[in-house]
Amino acid sequence: YAKRNGRDSYRIYTDEMTTEVNDIIETNRGLNHAVRRDELTVFFQPKVNLASGNIVGAEALVRWQHPKLGLLPPSAFMEVAEKSDLVVDIDKWVFSKVARLVTEWKNAGIDTSSILISVNFSARMFYMTDLAEQLQKILDKTDCEPSQLILEITERDMMRDFETCVRTIETLHAKGYKIAIDDFGTGYSSLSVLKNLSADYIKLDRSFIKDVHSSSSDYEITKAILQLANVLDLSVVAEGAETRPHVDTLRQLGCASAQGYYFAKPLPVDGWLDYLEENQRKASQSDFIRLKSVT
Ligand code: C2E
Ligand code: MG
Ligand code: MG
Ligand code: MG
Repeated sequence: YAKRNGRDSYRIYTDEMTTEVNDIIETNRGLNHAVRRDELTVFFQPKVNLASGNIVGAEALVRWQHPKLGLLPPSAFMEVAEKSDLVVDIDKWVFSKVARLVTEWKNAGIDTSSILISVNFSARMFYMTDLAEQLQKILDKTDCEPSQLILEITERDMMRDFETCVRTIETLHAKGYKIAIDDFGTGYSSLSVLKNLSADYIKLDRSFIKDVHSSSSDYEITKAILQLANVLDLSVVAEGAETRPHVDTLRQLGCASAQGYYFAKPLPVDGWLDYLEENQRKASQSDFIRLKSVT
């Protein structure tokens, strides 16, 4: 037991720890060096096509493996990071890590052809005029193409400087990246702004999903957003699908895909690859059964 408090110890992060964490971040300048010391890590949450059950991608979510505090979620440190260009270093680190991992997976013979990986970018990333060039430099060192990546920006961040964001999104889209508007429905944009955007996905905020099966207003809002998205040729990803009733309702409404604890929590790289392999094995088995029953 004593050993668990030693070097290999970990603690489960709780919100009450935030003040303590902020103290450490600010006094030790820990986050400043976290990127260089390789203390950041990326988890992957699978994204599932609701009609087929196949995995169609995963979202990369940053974690900080702190030497003293253990594994920290973004809520513990991103707010501090977002106050300065530190958040740009973090986002670029995650982007680069994802590009290197995708390359590794390809080299290991994993079928990534139908898998898109989402990366979250803060407002500061989208406001850099040379973002596309900076990203290309990173990708040039790998075998990862823009077309394998989805770049996510929250609706809220987008609305802070909508004109700039529209231009950046256009440029990135032209380079082949897919674009997702994250936490959609919470950022006070009017729905009509969507028609001016070259985005590919909207991620319906999990506050709408929580009671989608039981609250008629959440159900109707979700239905309306899905109809609008359909008109605008945007694919909808539901966030926070936690239960069977969530998933059944979303599928019945024709929502294309979902992420959430019902399918899987964000997983470390190995856990994600196991989950993907298992899903692909099941998918090819059912294809095989379907083929057999046809012939
Ligand atoms: P997000 O992009 O909306 O990511 C989804 C968050 O919801 C993740 O939290 C995920 O763990 C959580 N989640 C997924 N399924 C469920 C569910 O069924 N129920 C519930 N209650 N939660 C679920 P996480 O990993 O703590 O990330 C929080 C936020 O931090 C992200 O929200 C994103 O805005 C930000 N973030 C994460 N990684 C990065 C990054 O590399 N760069 C930037 N700029 N932001 C990041
Ligand atoms: Mg996201
Ligand atoms: Mg989100
Ligand atoms: Mg969110």
